[in-house]
Amino acid sequence: MKIKELFNQGRPVFSCEVFPPKKTAPVDSIYKTLDGLKDIKPDFISVTFGAGGSQVNQSTREIASIIQNKYGIPAMAHLTCVNATRGEVTALLAGLKEEGVENVLALRGDRNPDLPPKTDFLHADELVSFILRRGDFGVSAACYPEGHPESPDMLHDIRYLKQKVDAGAEHLVSQLFFDNEDFFRFVERCRIAGIDVPIEAGIMPVLNRGSIERMVSLCGASIPRKLSRLLAKYGDHPEALRQAGLAYAVEQISDLIAGGVDGIHLYTMNNPAVARHISDSISSIRAL
Ligand code: FAD
Repeated sequence: MKIKELFNQGRPVFSCEVFPPKKTAPVDSIYKTLDGLKDIKPDFISVTFGAGGSQVNQSTREIASIIQNKYGIPAMAHLTCVNATRGEVTALLAGLKEEGVENVLALRGDRNPDLPPKTDFLHADELVSFILRRGDFGVSAACYPEGHPESPDMLHDIRYLKQKVDAGAEHLVSQLFFDNEDFFRFVERCRIAGIDVPIEAGIMPVLNRGSIERMVSLCGASIPRKLSRLLAKYGDHPEALRQAGLAYAVEQISDLIAGGVDGIHLYTMNNPAVARHISDSISSIRAL
């Protein structure tokens, strides 16, 4: 099933993201995560893609196949192109096709100064067109409610986002954000710009001060005062921060759904207990 078809159900889509286990862990350790996620019935599960290293990227294919074929849940494989040639992308797509994985999140990826640059694809819009020429995939793309860190301003970012959609991206997943007003404003600007595909809100529950600060410094998301108060008060008390962070994520999601969001994409960090807590807390809201 193509992801875009999931948006015809008259309720917000609820999806989850997982990442391949570290190289030192067997790929089988993903089963524990997926067993937990299966119970909360996500509409689809996406699998991230390592910026470099064929071992990790082989895992993306393998895990997407497990989700799709063993669990019967539509899978979306992330695919980055910044360090790939056309030949390598063609081989990755053939592998996904072989496994029956029909959906790809087409990404440029972050440039890695330690890897020799490849120039077959400069931006994600080129990857979107390339994938669509290679076969019958549902193609999604990333978007940034607070702007991509490399963008000079939101105007440029939305102009390039429109290019990705015009190239054939049928669905967008947002970067994490903590202030819903940023997301609502962004969606409004997208609609004015003629971007009319479903836009899922990316939600990352705050469970640990260090990891959220690292994540925010990498992706450029801002921390609103309400959240920084929680981090200041509970940051050194892991259990208290976990409770406060989960409550924050649940409040964010219920407000987004009340505001008519197309879907929620939960960054699960391979933690099914967290995903289950959130899913249980919004069970009636999700069904509306
Ligand atoms: P692009 O769409 O190419 O945009 C990158 C920058 O270039 C932006 O500033 C944009 O405005 C600008 N731009 C876009 N098109 C053009 C153009 N034609 N000409 C000039 N400028 C242009 N990274 C991973 O390594 N693995 C993952 O699995 C992964 N999953 C992600 C999932 C989501 C939902 C999100 C939001 C991000 C994910 N990332 C992942 C991170 C992503 O790779 C980085 O944010 C990367 O820096 C940008 O990728 P992109 O596809 O958005 O790039």
